[in-house]
Amino acid sequence: MEQELSGWMCRKCGKPLVKEKVVFDYLGHTFSEALLRCPVCGRALIPGDLAEGKMAEVETMLEDK
Ligand SMILES: [Zn+2]
Repeated sequence: MEQELSGWMCRKCGKPLVKEKVVFDYLGHTFSEALLRCPVCGRALIPGDLAEGKMAEVETMLEDK
């Protein structure tokens, strides 16, 4: 699935989101991903698919240990 600027808007501000590198943590692992972020309120949008994909990835990594 392709995610470009168009089509994603901040629900709060109604502004188009911009792609920006965002760092986030899950279960002690830090990820840096280019996510869509609102330039006004700074809220990052993590698409459900991406979030779930990453979470699953981490869980797999943990299990593999
Ligand atoms: Zn916003």
